[in-house]
Amino acid sequence: MPHVLVVGSSNTDLVMNTPRLPTPGETLLGATFFSVQGGKGANQAVAAARAGAKTTFIARMGNDNFGQQALLSLQKENIHTDHILLDPDWPSGVAFILVDDHGENSIIVASGANAALSPIQLETAERVFEHADICLLQLETPIDTVLYATQLASQYQTPVILNPAPATQLPSEIWPHLYLITPNETETEMLTGISPNTDQNAQRAAQMLLNRGVQNVIITLGARGALLVTPTQTHHIAAPHVTPVDTTAAGDAFNGALAYALANDQTLPQATRFACAAGALTVTQAGAQPAIPTATQIWQLLKNQ
Ligand code: ADP
Repeated sequence: MPHVLVVGSSNTDLVMNTPRLPTPGETLLGATFFSVQGGKGANQAVAAARAGAKTTFIARMGNDNFGQQALLSLQKENIHTDHILLDPDWPSGVAFILVDDHGENSIIVASGANAALSPIQLETAERVFEHADICLLQLETPIDTVLYATQLASQYQTPVILNPAPATQLPSEIWPHLYLITPNETETEMLTGISPNTDQNAQRAAQMLLNRGVQNVIITLGARGALLVTPTQTHHIAAPHVTPVDTTAAGDAFNGALAYALANDQTLPQATRFACAAGALTVTQAGAQPAIPTATQIWQLLKNQ
């Protein structure tokens, strides 16, 4: 079974739907509340597992109700959680999300234990870096830890996918350790200064990233699909046509499914097509993790195309 290692963040999203956003000092009544598991790392681990991978997730949470619930929900997805640490010294990561009747939102993230995910914790999981088929990373945990993960994976010739989200600059040492980088439009512009608003601009931006030392680039372009650029080929993969309901976690579903497909020996163009289908299905459902599709749904969409 293809084995995907995900290293990254776990948050609990505390969501309130409110008629309007409050002003400072104001107390509003009339909201409704729900909570869901989130965090880019956890979402991508769920996406890889639902796509069909044996998935190991390395993360740090608090030893509190949020952390314990998050752990249980990952275990229900058959994700291997042996290297998740419930740290009594930190609260779990949480995001407070307010959404008003017009869909406008305000979000505050308290990273909590995600900020304490350390290189030392990764060392205890060195065997997983050695045996996984692919390692998938994002940027919601400390950059030193992300960099260390790329080095550890490289040491064992385990290919690394970096989803550079949320958008930020990267240390120059990281590029040669990357098999693939998968920025969305905003992240591409942050990394290269070029908005990938046309195929030609996306191609130029991807080339700039290749020149930094990453082996392959996929720029995700929302409803326009994805542009795959390798040193020898360029493919524009169209997104399946769907009716969008909520675009949350499209990128996470894309990356988790992509990691599964590559770990399962699909070629880069095949894997990109598979990932585009996973992203498209995700935007047809509300919420983050509940919207992430299963392998059956992805294959069905690809068959119907
Ligand atoms: P992010 O969620 O990180 O901003 P994107 O918006 O680029 O990333 O979405 C990731 C992938 O999900 C896209 O490459 C595409 O395959 C799919 N996707 C996103 N939005 C749509 C859409 N409206 N219709 C079809 N597919 C979509």
